[in-house]
Amino acid sequence: MKLPEIEIPITEIPLNKNIRLFIKREDLIHPEISGNKYWKLFYNINHYLDLQTSNPLLITFGGAFSNHISAVAALGKSLGIKTLGIIRGEEISNKWQQNPTLSHAQKNGMDFRFVTRTEYRDKPSLTKTFEIAFPNALIIPEGGSNFLAVEGVKHMLDERTKSFDYLCTAVGTGGTVAGISKFSEKNQKILGFKVVDDSSLGKRISELSGKDQIPLLDAHFGGYGKITDENIRFINWFSNEFGIPLDPIYTGKMMQRIFELMDEGFFSQGSKILAFHTGGLQGIEGANEMLRKQGRTLIIE
Ligand SMILES: *Cc1c(COP(=O)(O)O)cnc(C)c1O
Repeated sequence: MKLPEIEIPITEIPLNKNIRLFIKREDLIHPEISGNKYWKLFYNINHYLDLQTSNPLLITFGGAFSNHISAVAALGKSLGIKTLGIIRGEEISNKWQQNPTLSHAQKNGMDFRFVTRTEYRDKPSLTKTFEIAFPNALIIPEGGSNFLAVEGVKHMLDERTKSFDYLCTAVGTGGTVAGISKFSEKNQKILGFKVVDDSSLGKRISELSGKDQIPLLDAHFGGYGKITDENIRFINWFSNEFGIPLDPIYTGKMMQRIFELMDEGFFSQGSKILAFHTGGLQGIEGANEMLRKQGRTLIIE
């Protein structure tokens, strides 16, 4: 994997407030390997390819709408490496063609193994099974959060990001916010917006970053993957107003919470806030298919 050739833009969201909000468009890194997933995979894959020179294989885990599955499949394709996705839910094994994430991943050359939810939950034994079956493969954990992933996140920070008082990102497994915390400046405040309702996250992030626990704000809107009509209205308003699409699982939830916090006076006057757009836009198509079936308003792509 190479460093991207473009400098990732930082755009101001015009607000007419005594607070300035900017967004760093990691979603523009690559059309399919977008956002933080690129950086989380960067050193993991480069390190593996240094060691494994013949028949490399990437194996990873995810749900049917996973940005991580989508990123690993597209990366495998661009690097000419085989990929295998272990997918949660045996019930989709005969209808995955209707799922946009999985059908794109398959077009990018990914093979699948569908496992039951019970099997999926037992990661250690699932990992063991695949380690034995494919001893030369790189098995990337779900969401890709490990020490090398955290190292990759340092590329999301540069000279430009040093001038911000607050750095904001959505939190799933915590690798991204751990990296931001690890590589930010001492005077910067890090805010993690939790899209999963998991009370053990704070401790795990602190272990990954080697830093004190950082404030985690709740942004799960009813649970991981749950989509509320209010959040859809916000995402569509934001897209019309500022021309920037947000995804309904991570960045849309983070951004709505940032706007709520601004209204509540959470940020001090004169502060400069940077929100990372971590991508996830590939998930909109699948989300809209579900919303269409439920007769609800769709998300602008
Ligand atoms: C995976 C993901 C995140 C969360 O990253 P973690 O390192 O797992 O916390 C945030 N935003 C998007 C768009 C993602 O796909």
